[in-house]
Amino acid sequence: MTSPQRPGSPLATLRRITANRPAPVAYERCEMCAEQISESHQHVVNLESRALMCTCRACYLLFTADGAELRYRAVPDRYLSYPEFTIGPGQWDQLEIPVGLAFLFRNSLQHRTIAFYPGPAGATESELPLQAWDPVVAANPQLGLLRADVEALLLRAPERGRAGFTCNLVPIDACYELVGRLRQLWRGFDGGGDAHAAMDQFFETVTARSRPAPAVRPTPGP
Ligand SMILES: [Zn+2]
Ligand SMILES: [Zn+2]
Repeated sequence: MTSPQRPGSPLATLRRITANRPAPVAYERCEMCAEQISESHQHVVNLESRALMCTCRACYLLFTADGAELRYRAVPDRYLSYPEFTIGPGQWDQLEIPVGLAFLFRNSLQHRTIAFYPGPAGATESELPLQAWDPVVAANPQLGLLRADVEALLLRAPERGRAGFTCNLVPIDACYELVGRLRQLWRGFDGGGDAHAAMDQFFETVTARSRPAPAVRPTPGP
């Protein structure tokens, strides 16, 4: 490696690099093969640790097969809306989600459906009461399109005085990104203005990217 400046000790070089490093870093590296990747890149979920890994396109494509027995799974980039989604206010209460917003995802290794929601203590995770959730899925069979581990259902309660719960299917990396942003912005008990503005912006993006979920035949009972 050559430098236009006088070569210094490794430590001096390190200090110079650290001091000059722009924040945020303009590029990252694939966490599987160390290839340089751009800021908008795709992710792979480690099923055991549930960690998201930033990947290059080639590594991402290794893990897109749905049925394969793999330790990693590629996060798809589809967004779906459920225009006919129905949930009764009583059913919503039974889900025990304390705020008006939650992500639900299925953990395939633990065979659990987990609710994830923002709050004053950062993101909170709780196992969903399935006796409350199963009837919602039965009434909305398209929710079954959800892929375990890599996608989430984003549920939002209506603003006070308005009707209609909404549901979208979103990539799980988008959820983590929102939760991370909310963690920095959250103030007080209900989140405050900045957190709500971030949520509104997120919902605008989700709405713009979503297409209606394809029809699904209800699964016959046992
Ligand atoms: Zn790679
Ligand atoms: Zn990344």
